[in-house]
Amino acid sequence: MAIIRTARKEQTVTPVKTVRENDSFEQSLRPRALTEYVGQGNVKEHLLVYMEAARKRGEPLGHTLLHGPPGLGKTTLALIIGHEMDAQVRVTSGPAIEKPGDLASLLTNLQAGDVLFIDEIHRLRPAIEEVLYSAMEDFALDLMLGKGPSARSMRLELKPFTLVGATTKTGSISAPLRDRFPHVFKLAFYSQSEMRHIVERTAKILQVMLEDGVAHHIAGCCRATPRIANRLVRSIRDFAQVRNEETISLTRACDTLHALGIDDVGLDRTDRAILHAIIEKFGGGPVGLSTLAAATAEEEETLEDVYEPYLLQQGYLQRTPKGRIATRLAFDLLGLMVPEGVQKNLFGM
Ligand code: ADP
Repeated sequence: MAIIRTARKEQTVTPVKTVRENDSFEQSLRPRALTEYVGQGNVKEHLLVYMEAARKRGEPLGHTLLHGPPGLGKTTLALIIGHEMDAQVRVTSGPAIEKPGDLASLLTNLQAGDVLFIDEIHRLRPAIEEVLYSAMEDFALDLMLGKGPSARSMRLELKPFTLVGATTKTGSISAPLRDRFPHVFKLAFYSQSEMRHIVERTAKILQVMLEDGVAHHIAGCCRATPRIANRLVRSIRDFAQVRNEETISLTRACDTLHALGIDDVGLDRTDRAILHAIIEKFGGGPVGLSTLAAATAEEEETLEDVYEPYLLQQGYLQRTPKGRIATRLAFDLLGLMVPEGVQKNLFGM
């Protein structure tokens, strides 16, 4: 069974448990072509070469692994690859594939040139990963029929396809799986000017008028992440709409961001709670991930995947073998003095 999600070429195929909330909102804002995809210049440049080469050979693009924090554009890029290669994209995710048979049925239903997108590929079970190896390498499925002494293996030929895997945790992908991707791309956080471009693009699609300087301000509060930019523009539009304001002023944007708990450097309540906990409960660190998760009532995985990457990138947090420590920048941000003992301990001065 297949659930047709949008246009002819993009399908969410079972086994998929849930369709993400906000899906239609995100769909409406997703760039469809590489030219519309803002930033990630290095990735786009390489992809263009690999796609062009594959087209010239009359082959599908080689399997591609995309990694980076959530909301940076992995799914979008996978769908664009399908679009650029004029291929049908089938969308599923690691946890949705429960049995090797589920994957076998997905693979045998692929048409020549199709793109199979597996989100959260690091969550595939080992038994399922093994089915994927021969599919990726030889476009064939090795199936075991029966059990015990009478068991025999059977090889099923598959049509050539492109597997696009997305993950927030490359470290959790087994080496044999990672080695089977000829193309591996890391998506980076977006620069301020790229984020401004994305905010302006989203505002245009949502038919929101922004006064001068507003896009720039919002762009600085999005954790360098397009999904957050989309969410903020939508919230600011809603706040303005209930006040019958047609154009968004800087004051309206700032008031909305404050109402949402987002400060002027773009950190939200949880970011600040994490930094407060490290500094106030653990003397600036080092503190282990599980202890920090308990202290902030967040899941370890959420801390690691969603919050830490940006705090690290912005220099508020450091990861050391002994645990996480808050940097001097974090103390300054929260307006806290670095106690003398801590100063020596953490910053060696
Ligand atoms: P991920 O799969 O990495 O979690 P998505 O691809 O779902 O992220 O991106 C979330 C949203 O952010 C998309 O719906 C799209 O609107 C926007 N987006 C992501 N990357 C870009 C980009 N490079 N340019 C413009 N918009 C983008």
